[in-house]
Parts: sequence; C-alpha cells; structure tokens
Amino acid sequence: MRRQKKFYAWGYADEDLSADELKPWEAEVAERYRLPGFDVTPAPKPEEITLRKPRIDVPAALQAMVRTDHLTRLEHSYGKAGFDTWRMFRRQVPNPPDAVAFPENEQDIVRVLEWCDSIGAKAIPYGGGSSVVKGIEPDAAFDKVVTISTRHMDKILEVDDVSQAARLQGGIYGPAIEDGLRKTPLTMRHYMQAYRCSTLGGWIATRSGGHYATLYTHIDDFVESTRMITPAGAMESRRLPGSGAGPSPDRMVLGSEGILGIITEAWVRLRRKPTFRSSASVRFKTFFSGADAVRGITQAGLYPANCRLLEAREALPNIPWTNEEAVLVLAFESADHPLDAWMKRALEICADHGGIADQSDPDDANAHRSGAAGAWRNRFIRAPHYG
Ligand SMILES: Cc1cc2nc3c(=O)[nH]c(=O)nc-3n(C[C@H](O)[C@H](O)[C@H](O)COP(=O)(O)OP(=O)(O)OC[C@H]3O[C@@H](n4cnc5c(N)ncnc54)[C@H](O)[C@@H]3O)c2cc1C
Repeated sequence: MRRQKKFYAWGYADEDLSADELKPWEAEVAERYRLPGFDVTPAPKPEEITLRKPRIDVPAALQAMVRTDHLTRLEHSYGKAGFDTWRMFRRQVPNPPDAVAFPENEQDIVRVLEWCDSIGAKAIPYGGGSSVVKGIEPDAAFDKVVTISTRHMDKILEVDDVSQAARLQGGIYGPAIEDGLRKTPLTMRHYMQAYRCSTLGGWIATRSGGHYATLYTHIDDFVESTRMITPAGAMESRRLPGSGAGPSPDRMVLGSEGILGIITEAWVRLRRKPTFRSSASVRFKTFFSGADAVRGITQAGLYPANCRLLEAREALPNIPWTNEEAVLVLAFESADHPLDAWMKRALEICADHGGIADQSDPDDANAHRSGAAGAWRNRFIRAPHYG
C-alpha cells in the first residue's frame, strides 16, 4: 500500500517530530525573538478546508485515471514551503487543481494532454510535490487546471553495470532508486534534502542540488540523456559518453520546471558504493576561520564528500545561542582506496586556521552518525524545515 504523505506539510502522515525534538527549537526561537511562548494551531483536517467545485467534467474514457475527489485535489494544491504550510494551517486553498491525472505510461500522458488541449485546461506536471517555489501550484488566473502526477511511472527500467548507469522512469522517488540498486554494487547517491519525497523527474525539472560537498552532487552531473512527452510529441536525447556537438538538448530539459512537457525517463550515471570512509568534526573559534579552512580544502583539490560548516549552536546540543563557534563536518569516501592521506592533508589545512579536530575511529563505519556529524545528520533528515 502507498504510504500517505501529509497533505498540509512536509513528510509522511505517520511520522512527526516528538515533543522532545520540538522543545529545544521552541525555546531557542522564543529566546531569539524574545517571545513568552507559542499558541499552538492544530494541524488541519481535510474536511475543514473548503474547495471550489471542479470546473471540468472528466470524459468517461479517462475516468479510470483522473480523479476529482476532495483529498486528491487538496494534496496537489500546494508545494511544501513554509508559506504553503502556513496557508494550509489557515485553511486557505482558493485555487486547487480541478482534476488530477495518474497516467501509467506515456500513451496515457498523451491522452491527458490531448484532453487538456481540447478543453483549454492548463496541465501541471507533478512529481513528489516538494516544490518550495509554487512550482506545482495552479495560478489564480488559470480557468481550468489538470495536474498530471507521475506517481505510477516509478520503475528502474535498465541497469548498465558496465558503464555504471541506469534508465529510470521520471516518477521514481529517491529511496526507490537506492532500494532497486541494493543488490548491485552501484548507487546513484543524489542525496538532496527532500530525497525521500521527491522524484527523478522533479529533480531534473528543477535542477536539484544534492548535499555532497564536491564532485557528483548537482543533478546535471548525473544525467546522460532524457526523454520527455511534450504537447507536440516525444523528445529524446541520445545517450553518449560525452558530446561537444552543438547545443545540448538536455540543457533545455534540465531546469524546464514542467513548462515544456513531462520527463518520463532518463539515463543517469551511477557509482560503486563507497567502502572506504574517513570522517572528522573540526571545531573553530569563529565561523569565518572555518570558512577559510573550507576554502583551503576546496582549492587544494581534495574533493571531500562532506564539507559542511555549521554554527556550533546548530549542530551540537546545549550550546547557547550567543556561542560564535563553528563545526566543520568533514568526510571522504571511496569505493577504491583508503583516504588517510586526504584526511591528513585536510586536517592540516584546518589546523592552519585554528581548527581542532575530533577525528573518529577510522575503522568506525558509523562515525558519520555520532557526534556533531550525527547531530547535524539527524536534524537534516528528521527536520529539514527547521534546519
Ligand atoms: C524539506 C525540503 C528540502 C529540500 N531540499 C532541497 C535540496 O536539498 N536541493 C534542492 O535542489 N531542492 C530541495 N528542495 C526543493 C524540492 O525538493 C526540489 O525542487 C525537487 O527537485 C522537486 O522534486 P519533486 O519530485 O518533489 O517535484 P515537484 O515539487 O512535484 O515539482 C517541481 C517542479 O518540477 C515539475 N515537474 C515535476 N515532475 C516533472 C516531470 N516528470 N516532468 C516535467 N516536470 C516535472 C513541476 O511541474 C514543478 O514545476 C527541498 C524541498 C523541501 C520541502
């Protein structure tokens, strides 16, 4: 059964932050803005929000894949930014889509686009709905809106383990990609922060940025070729190891934000899963001395997998709000070779800028889950909207 996401905010309906996780933030925010406390607004229930009636009739031939029920339209009305959640908590949804289509294949998409064309409806591609820039929100000026969800187009179609690449459908979610590759030595590792609830098609359409510090992290770096269904037909680029011949068609698809068509497939680069890891946390007296060290590491060409400079009060428990210290979470990874030399050189650069390292046990594969790195990782995954 499909796991239900919250319709009014980020994340799944069956998970929420515990009171223990929320309390420190409440105290922190209250102190920062000199507030005595907070009034709690209960999360909305679907029946508390009134939606305008659908302005279109779904033809009989499409009824099996197009829905107009209250919850489905509500779920597809807003993205997941703070202002989206705020409007949901105010129970204000004036412009829901009139209908939501769930195509299972490209032919279904063509049929839905033809229907939209025939009734003059705007079509909005929808992946995971994690947009934070109103990317999937119907505009008030639109007369009729059909949102097209790629939810059912979520398969791994091929894995090329010689060239280390995979052909994926546009509606596949981040975790499903890694689950599908589990039995192979390969990984995609496009760990952008909304990875759990966003799709390959959405990543490509928005040019998403992952959270590895260097090398493969931007979705552009992964894409080998794309396939898109547009109102004028299918558009597919060739999968080449590299090409310098004229403008790259993929450049037009990457960042197209759903305005050109629906990305149904892409070949993406994979890598071997890392087997060597080295991680450390380094404390600096000030954020700017840490920033100097980060610049030094970057310019030395060491290419760490993680090189995240955090204010200590953000990364560690029980640090007062006025504390100026910074923590650098540093990690190297490889599927090929030990990383001691890289880490040693990076820590020398940190020391040049006054950094004091708390290096984990080099044999501890879970070091990135403890200490400052672990505290940051937990907040990054559990509460990205508070980060
Ligand atoms: C908590 C949180 C953390 C985030 N962290 C990051 C981050 O680390 N890095 C980052 O870059 N972004 C981040 N975002 C923003 C968002 O997750 C990205 O923009 C993501 O790529 C959107 O993917 P999606 O599948 O959810 O797309 P949606 O939100 O469904 O759609 C986004 C846009 O892409 C279009 N679209 C979706 N699917 C397709 C398709 N198959 N074909 C054509 N167009 C399509 C839509 O029409 C819309 O314009 C974050 C958002 C949240 C809420």
